Amino acid sequence: DNPIARKPDWIRVKAPNHPVYHETRALMRSNKLVTVCEEAACPNIGECWSQRHATMMIMGEICTRACAFCNVTTGLPHALDEDEPTRVAEAVARLGLRHVVITSVDRDDLEDGGAHHFARVIHAIRAAAPETTIEILTPDFLRKKNALEVVVEARPDVFNHNLETVPRLYPTIRPGARYYQSLRLLDRVKQLDASIFTKSGLMLGLGEEKMELAQVMDDLRVADVDFITMGQYLQPTVKHAPVARFVTPAEFEDYGTMARVKGFLQVSSSPLTRSSYHADADFAALRDA
Ligand code: SF4
Ligand code: SF4
Repeated sequence: DNPIARKPDWIRVKAPNHPVYHETRALMRSNKLVTVCEEAACPNIGECWSQRHATMMIMGEICTRACAFCNVTTGLPHALDEDEPTRVAEAVARLGLRHVVITSVDRDDLEDGGAHHFARVIHAIRAAAPETTIEILTPDFLRKKNALEVVVEARPDVFNHNLETVPRLYPTIRPGARYYQSLRLLDRVKQLDASIFTKSGLMLGLGEEKMELAQVMDDLRVADVDFITMGQYLQPTVKHAPVARFVTPAEFEDYGTMARVKGFLQVSSSPLTRSSYHADADFAALRDA
């Protein structure tokens, strides 16, 4: 028996074989860029890359944290690549994106947690592709004084930081992180610059209860978070946290409705929703409204 839980038939993904998928892949290789799409073994890669929607992961492919759900390698990362902001910006311009999502590994080893590097990437994209709106998905900058201010001053259009799961499950699922630190981070972004949209995401199927999810949504709204994403957690390998259960598409819809009622401006809730899934369409809808 496969020890990884059998996926229900609503988790269906198409094999990536579209010509644009291969173009996107070639561009990521030629610009020596790491993507979370590949590192996280994201099930949507065929669909996203066929539309040139690649989510680049900056600051290397080795993370200082070891979250129980995440496929990224843990270890001591390499020194920052000073040329990376230029290569990211060039790729964004060549992809011709209306909206780009940039994420990173966690860099607890750096004094600023990588905040200045994030800011340099944002500035480089603004210069190379001024029409592209920029969404960043950041680490929590735990114990990194003034790091958040540096990133906010670079003025991304959307500041995304995932709470990932309910507070009760943090010790097992997100052991290096603190629930309130993450929540406070999102709250601080809004206080520093109210013109930046804030966003957060949760993985469902890790053992969370409905009441706990409702509480997390309320916490996010109190922190004035604008967008929420909810998707099914999938176990990347047997070494990762097991799936407690597959949440049905109907339940995802119910959670989506709950989120809308609670006042989120953009809600994405479905089994295959990921933080960066359809981020382009969601943001464009809001921008053009
Ligand atoms: Fe990449 Fe996000 Fe699409 Fe997954 S959902 S393939 S991580 S852009
Ligand atoms: Fe993965 Fe991010 Fe956790 Fe690092 S901090 S292990 S990249 S989820």
